Amino acid sequence: MSDHHHEVACIFCKIVHGSIPAVKVFENEHAVAFLDINPVNKGHVLLVPKAHHASLAELPDDLAAETARLVPRLARAIQAATGADGLNLIINNGQAAGQTVFHSHWHLIPRFLDDAVNWPWPHADYSGDELNQMQFRIERELS
Ligand code: 5GP
Ligand code: ZN
Repeated sequence: MSDHHHEVACIFCKIVHGSIPAVKVFENEHAVAFLDINPVNKGHVLLVPKAHHASLAELPDDLAAETARLVPRLARAIQAATGADGLNLIINNGQAAGQTVFHSHWHLIPRFLDDAVNWPWPHADYSGDELNQMQFRIERELS
């Protein structure tokens, strides 16, 4: 396990390397999943690539793929174990997006039809040429 790049001060690296405890539900060569200590709903799981990368945007494609491929299986297990009606997969990426632990991690949050969770996301409006401008800018960055 110690071959993964890690940061000495990082709390999730400590969990990956077993130097602080966590209630793990799954582990393989690439990633570990454990219960969030302060869950949105009970059964809230954090899926964490073992190697230290601060944010989603910095994850190597292969590691992102190895992590993402675990999501459907974990989602099925969490929904079956909790009796959840649904599930949110959320990645907070950067301080502006609410990230507090800067070792990229994926939240799997079981949801219930009658739960108290409420994300009242606002919605912006595109005007004029903005929609096509945005397409142009993102496509240019991808090419
Ligand atoms: P973020 O806001 O960075 O997306 O999410 C960090 C998450 O990590 C929070 O939901 C928080 O409850 C969880 N967390 C922080 N420290 C620990 C810890 O030491 N153990 C566990 N199991 N979860 C933690
Ligand atoms: Zn780390």
